[in-house]
Amino acid sequence: MGTKVAKFGGSSLSEATQFRKVRAIVEEDASRRYIVPSAPGKRDPKDEKITDLLYKCHALAKDGHSFLEVFARIKERYQSICTELGLALDLSPEFDAIEKAIAAGASADYTASRGEYLNGKILAAYLGYAFVDPATMIFFDQHGQFDAEKTQAVLSRELARYERAVIPGFYGSSPDGQIRTFSRGGSDITGAIVARGVQASLYENWTDVSGFLMADPRIVPNPKPIREITYRELRELAYMGATVLHDEAIFPVREAKIPINIKNTNDPGDPGTLIVNDNGSIRTPGSITGIAGRKGFTIIAIEKTLMHSELGFGRKLLSVIEEHGISFEHMPSGIDTISLVIADSQLNDKLEQVLIGIKRVCKPDAIEVVRDIALIATVGLGMAYTPGIAAKLFTALAEAGINVRMIDQGSSEINIIVGVENKDFEAAVRQIYQAFVPRDPDK
Ligand code: ADP
Ligand code: ASP
Ligand code: MG
Repeated sequence: MGTKVAKFGGSSLSEATQFRKVRAIVEEDASRRYIVPSAPGKRDPKDEKITDLLYKCHALAKDGHSFLEVFARIKERYQSICTELGLALDLSPEFDAIEKAIAAGASADYTASRGEYLNGKILAAYLGYAFVDPATMIFFDQHGQFDAEKTQAVLSRELARYERAVIPGFYGSSPDGQIRTFSRGGSDITGAIVARGVQASLYENWTDVSGFLMADPRIVPNPKPIREITYRELRELAYMGATVLHDEAIFPVREAKIPINIKNTNDPGDPGTLIVNDNGSIRTPGSITGIAGRKGFTIIAIEKTLMHSELGFGRKLLSVIEEHGISFEHMPSGIDTISLVIADSQLNDKLEQVLIGIKRVCKPDAIEVVRDIALIATVGLGMAYTPGIAAKLFTALAEAGINVRMIDQGSSEINIIVGVENKDFEAAVRQIYQAFVPRDPDK
């Protein structure tokens, strides 16, 4: 019997009824030995995630305001889960310690991590599993980067001591002993790290949808599920905005060749999506696997005659954004033109300075700036080397009167990225979906 690691997301543990579903799932298969919970998520669309409330407490405390009202709501949520589950678990010493720490200026990372910590305590008690704090075995280096080597060594040794354990997601510790979190949605990464550490046969990621869908269900109504997808395709989709799985969650398991199964806590019988080896199944030529995208990019288009014969032009251009601590998303180029596509979250208020720098260092003939751009990736192994894919995609967009402001296709040919105006984002995703996914005759 192989070992399974099961990560349950925030919506899967948002209230007592969800905890009951989780226990039924865990008890149904004895190989589910290591369980990674997120903090309680939204119970309904208007609700607030515990993690968001904790960040709010931190921000209030930092500005010298009282955070006690928000903290009381947090305590209330955990308390009601315990009461409804009939757990004799007294969390008040934990609450007091956390409240004191926030009041004394604890970091945002520490404060946010308590959401997973407390939920882990409850889930461990409810399942009768050991509680293992990831601060003792998931490590970051002094630059805040995840330290895979050190973690792997300690975590595999540590977890070997437990037949069954709950390990809270989202955080670990830095060399000075301080708590550090991954970026938002990071419990997916913890699940993958644990799966690798215990050499799991499967990493199950339980959420509120029946696996990876071909498009964001909030944009396309009832998108078709993806039954099987390779790590490579998934990475492209996750990075581009399909938030079902954190894009960095792929690396630990991919290396160890552990498949990931995305499953629905509210419909455990559904097979969900299986994420497999990169040289997995070859799909029907001409088909796509999925569509994902994000809003909020800026394109800086630079024009200069004979730029390609100017030695070091690209390096000079990139040195400017590097100087400002900015990374770029894409760099499509043509004859005498090159564009930088940069996320607005990177650019912030540095645009003017960047333009001044480019003019000084690159001496271009012209610079054009296009703001409010959304990027959409159409991804699929079945797209590679198939003629007509791009034509179909651009025809679909043209038919809806959507203006394409940028095109980029990776050399692997499994991804075509288009840039459209933010306002056209949702319509563009729907158009591409309709162009590639045949309608079910019975729907
Ligand atoms: P969890 O709390 O379990 O970690 P997330 O909210 O992080 O869950 O991820 C699941 C959500 O991702 C779904 O509820 C859905 O709204 C959203 N989503 C975005 N793109 C997709 C997609 N392509 N397929 C499925 N869900 C998607
Ligand atoms: N609770 C954290 C967040 O909301 C981590 C996670 O859910 O994966 O981002
Ligand atoms: Mg998530």
